[in-house]
Amino acid sequence: MTLCACMSGRETDSCCGPVLAGQPAKTAEALMRARFCAFTSGNMDFLDRTLAPESKDDYDREELKETIENAKPQGLEVRKLEGGQEGDSEGMVEFVARLKVHGEPMAHHERAFFRRENGIWLYVDGEVNPKGQPRHVEKVGRNDPCSCGSGKKYKKCCGA
Ligand SMILES: [Zn+2]
Ligand SMILES: [Zn+2]
Repeated sequence: MTLCACMSGRETDSCCGPVLAGQPAKTAEALMRARFCAFTSGNMDFLDRTLAPESKDDYDREELKETIENAKPQGLEVRKLEGGQEGDSEGMVEFVARLKVHGEPMAHHERAFFRRENGIWLYVDGEVNPKGQPRHVEKVGRNDPCSCGSGKKYKKCCGA
């Protein structure tokens, strides 16, 4: 048996396998999980096919492909679901995907929005690092307020 790449702990055949093979996902979460699998395996066609048409404008396939090539998935945690069930036409899935990008651990936290059209779930867009959540500070300049929240400049605080 092969464990599913979405790290659900289930076998591929009873998890994302059928969705990746072309069966409509039953729920928004099922589509999100299958998209995660597609991400981990570089299945760009699946990612294209399950993206809402209006979102294709700001979608950079080449850029995503490059990200995928450099990312190694470490884990997927579903935090919250709103709608997205079999009888719904819209849904939100909040998740945290843990990756290693160029060997550096990073967490991708997203509230992802889905819509169902003619029985097919599509990924519409997502809010990365949703409000109300601690933000991961990428880089603090020497003269920027310190990320520890002290109110002091970084160079006079933790950066000293
Ligand atoms: Zn799966
Ligand atoms: Zn500080």
